[in-house]
Amino acid sequence: MTIVPDATASLESIPYVDIAGQFRAERDVLMPIIEAVLASGQHVGGANEQSLEQALTAWCGTKHVVALNSGTDALILALAGLGVGEGDEVITPPNSFVASTAVIHQVGATPVFADVLADQNVDPVAIRKVITSRTKAIMPVHLTGRVADMHPIMEIAREYDLAVVEDAAQSIGSRYDGKLAGSIGDVGCFSAHPLKNLNACGDAGFLATDRDDVAEYARLARNHGLVDRNTVTRFGTVSRMDSVQAAILEFRLGRLEEIIGRRRANAALYRSLLDPKVAFSPPCREVEFNTFHTFVIQVERRDALRRHLGDAGIGTAIHYPVPIHLQPAAASLGYREGDFPITERQARRIITLPVHQGLTDAQIRRVATTVNEFLGAK
Ligand SMILES: *Cc1c(COP(=O)(O)O)cnc(C)c1O
Repeated sequence: MTIVPDATASLESIPYVDIAGQFRAERDVLMPIIEAVLASGQHVGGANEQSLEQALTAWCGTKHVVALNSGTDALILALAGLGVGEGDEVITPPNSFVASTAVIHQVGATPVFADVLADQNVDPVAIRKVITSRTKAIMPVHLTGRVADMHPIMEIAREYDLAVVEDAAQSIGSRYDGKLAGSIGDVGCFSAHPLKNLNACGDAGFLATDRDDVAEYARLARNHGLVDRNTVTRFGTVSRMDSVQAAILEFRLGRLEEIIGRRRANAALYRSLLDPKVAFSPPCREVEFNTFHTFVIQVERRDALRRHLGDAGIGTAIHYPVPIHLQPAAASLGYREGDFPITERQARRIITLPVHQGLTDAQIRRVATTVNEFLGAK
């Protein structure tokens, strides 16, 4: 089966995402799959979960994959499984979805921020500057579908004996120097939230790792710590993936390469059309294979451009307008405006254009033309 963008798609209204459209295109194949799971009577754990884990293990290139209920829980179980907790510090970038910082707090550790590079990913030089005797782990976030600069990050981790948890929620299938996102550090954490490139019809996520101890910890913890029906060796939680979501994800995994291909083609078309003088998107490095979970450009008059695109029927998003160190929830960490100048400058300039696999070339052209016209106008 192939993903064919709807040639009759509207040029008047170009949505930022189209989850319902994705379902319409899959409906005939997906509904029988969902029905089979419901009819089986096994709705959590069991065969679908195991089958998905096997398929994902092959995809991620790691020894283990543990299916979970969200990317957030994948991060929490990864940190806890590595022994990160009270009194420990974890270094992470402040420009991310809030989950990557929240999970550090959830396990009782302290988030320590390091600023980013032009590509919006954490700067290895900045990581080095904030290492203390309490630092236990580094959590790079592979934002937008682009892998952080992992060679120097792994070098720092080896030098200081730190664990590395990759937040690969936005980067399934992305590669860095030939290696898949999430397979480079100790643990890779993935989200299958409806808005991600490999998406469930609800919440879901998983972790990938070569470490037997972390995989074993996560397998137990996701199911109350039950080693068998009646024995609990250590108290856990409920983080299992629903069987329906596992079945949907296994089906969609079969189309992921094509989804990524379409997103890369859309991004390449934008790059060829957008005026580079006015709309900056960081160039791909030689070692990168980017999957374009988002297509982010940086411009001077971002809010005005966003209004202009909205008036033209074009949906956009900002990932993310308020850096995490400036969120009210982060007040007790003691950061101030000005602490992370690159993150803060990007937060004022970034705008995410639609790049999803359902877009036609004509729609991409109209978005690019509308951006160029606006930015050229003044
Ligand atoms: C989506 C996302 C998460 C959280 O994933 P959920 O499945 O929604 O819990 C974590 N980190 C980043 C960077 C994300 O984009």
